[in-house]
Amino acid sequence: MAGVEIERLIQFLARLPGLGPRSARRAALHLLNKREGLLEPLARALTEAAAAIRACRICGNLDSQDPCAICADPKRDAGLVCVVAEVGDLWALERSGAFKGRYHVLGGVLSALDGIGPEQLNLNGLVERARAGELREAILALDATVDGQTTAHYIADKLAGLPVKVSRLAHGVPVGGELDYLDDGTIAAALNARRPAE
Ligand SMILES: [Zn+2]
Repeated sequence: MAGVEIERLIQFLARLPGLGPRSARRAALHLLNKREGLLEPLARALTEAAAAIRACRICGNLDSQDPCAICADPKRDAGLVCVVAEVGDLWALERSGAFKGRYHVLGGVLSALDGIGPEQLNLNGLVERARAGELREAILALDATVDGQTTAHYIADKLAGLPVKVSRLAHGVPVGGELDYLDDGTIAAALNARRPAE
C-alpha cells in the first residue's frame, strides 16, 4: 500500500495504548500532512526524551535528572512516601496537589495472570529505604483491584517489623477506580482519610 517507512511508522503507532491499526493509519497520515508543525518537532522530542529521561535511582520516577526533581526537593517531606504502581499514578497525585511527601514507584503490581512476581517490581528499593530508617510512613496508593490489593498486602508484610508505619489510601470511591481517573478532590480526601494497613 505505502512505502516501507510509512508502514513502519504505522506499525509503531499501532503499538501505542489506545491506538489500533485503523487509528494508527490516521495518526500517521496526520503526522505526514503536518510535517513542519508536528512530525519533525515530535521526532526531535522523541529523540531528546529517549536520550534524557531515566528512572530515578531512589524512587523509580521518570525524569531527566537523577535523583528526580521530587526526591531532590528539600521542601518535600522525605519521611512520608506514597507507594504507587506506575508513574501515571504519581502524575495523578501530583496534579491533585494534595501530597507533599515523596514517592516509590513499583513499576506494576503483582499479577499471577500476567506472571508478574515480586522480583519484577521495584520492591527491594522500598524495603531498603525503610530499613535505612529514611521513612516514617509509607502510604500504599494501589488500585482497589484484586492485584492492587494483593500487592498492598504483600508490601505490608514485607515492611512489618521495620521502623515505618504502613497506611493505605482510603478508597471512598468507585471500586476499581484507578488513581488517574479520580478527580483532585477525591484524591485529597482519600489521602486525608488514609488508614493503617492491616
Ligand atoms: Zn525520585
